[in-house]
Amino acid sequence: MKCLVYKDSSISDKRLQAVLTPFTNNIKKYTDITPAFTVEQRFFNNYAYVFDNDYDVRPAPSLIAELTRGIGYTHDHVFMFVDEPNWLSAGEKFDAIQKKTGHNKKKGIWGTNYSYAGNSTHFHYCRFDTESVKALETMYHEWSHSLDSLCSTEVAININSLMESYLDREPLYRAYHNANGFRWDRDFVHGAHPAFAYIGRDPKRVMENVETLSVIAEPLQKAYAQRRKLESMTRKVSMLETIIKLQRKVRELLNRKNGVGRV
Ligand SMILES: [Zn+2]
Repeated sequence: MKCLVYKDSSISDKRLQAVLTPFTNNIKKYTDITPAFTVEQRFFNNYAYVFDNDYDVRPAPSLIAELTRGIGYTHDHVFMFVDEPNWLSAGEKFDAIQKKTGHNKKKGIWGTNYSYAGNSTHFHYCRFDTESVKALETMYHEWSHSLDSLCSTEVAININSLMESYLDREPLYRAYHNANGFRWDRDFVHGAHPAFAYIGRDPKRVMENVETLSVIAEPLQKAYAQRRKLESMTRKVSMLETIIKLQRKVRELLNRKNGVGRV
């Protein structure tokens, strides 16, 4: 699992590691997948935004396109970590800009997941709170949202069915499934299911529901492995293109005449 992190310039390495380390340890523990991070620094003290249909503030599509440009399969997840004081989607800055819409009673949002929104990757817009546990919860929450989409896109595995059959052993859960089915975002991430709690709501319980990721560990491993295959195929294609271009260049050089074009 390869992640690209755009870190706001005011977030220190120490603060970043306080989030990435427990995230990595828990994902490794319950899925046997080791996240790898590439970190790039950005200034998010004034980023482009749009209002959505709910009058929430979200990063402008042009910004998402810029941050995911050329990513393809080289990274599976792209995180945009905006330092809490710079966050435009909740808090003081949000209150100031939402007045423009005439809907200035909203609480705002702490993050959003965009799966395959562009360039074959998952983009996660996250507030990076001063309190590291909260920043970790937002990162983990938005990453979790992408997993059903990841598995169905990469390896055509429906993790809703897997979760449902795993949890069906419990009569209470079976009754819930009979009435509602199982929906990953609603039930696992937002904790509507009696087996789960909303990820990030209770600050005392860090990385809520993480143990149950073991149920979908295998499809997750397969999905990331599939992306590595696609990454290497893409690289091979571009290497082939480079070889063809080089061969052409060699032919051009061999056919070159001293300042006189062929006639
Ligand atoms: Zn959510």
